Amino acid sequence: MTLPTGVKGVKVIFAHDTEVALASAAALVNTGRGKELLPDVAALDQFVTDWAWSGKRAHDQAELDAVRQLRPRLEQLWAMDEDAAAELVNVLLREASALPQLVKHDHWDYHLHATPPDAPLADRMAVEAAMAFTDVIRAGQLCRLRHCAAAHCDNVHIDLSKNRSRRFCSISCANRTNVAAYRTRQAAQSEHPAASGR
Ligand SMILES: [Zn+2]
Ligand SMILES: [Zn+2]
Repeated sequence: MTLPTGVKGVKVIFAHDTEVALASAAALVNTGRGKELLPDVAALDQFVTDWAWSGKRAHDQAELDAVRQLRPRLEQLWAMDEDAAAELVNVLLREASALPQLVKHDHWDYHLHATPPDAPLADRMAVEAAMAFTDVIRAGQLCRLRHCAAAHCDNVHIDLSKNRSRRFCSISCANRTNVAAYRTRQAAQSEHPAASGR
């Protein structure tokens, strides 16, 4: 499956399917922060392909609307304390009558699905995110929910690094920030050559 840069190669904190679900939830939230990145069904199709969502699709406006409406609910998790987050996760699981089942499909080994494959896409997205957040909350790791530290980026992310050091939503935000900091240092040195220490 395709994962956005920055997700691959991280040290495992949670089960792989949980980490993918968390990254997917953050990516979904990010489609609704600032510029609308799910403007039409075609954009949703691309998102579904990028994140390797299986199961039934409606490909209609109602499906798109339901997915868009899920975003601000998931986004709240980045601002909630543990009790509020636990309650929201429980509500999301209850609303979709989630029933965890171990399944294998495509190239995936056993992992949990808590909705049937013919459940509406937004319900499956809600429950997959909620199930992943049950792991985060049980592990006391809600502090890993972050906002990107790059200037002019509103994205959220989940820091899955071993030493909790991830500050940026993506490699490109990290690079952009590093380049900007380098240019600032270069400019300071050319203005004050003595500051370079030589
Ligand atoms: Zn699956
Ligand atoms: Zn960013």
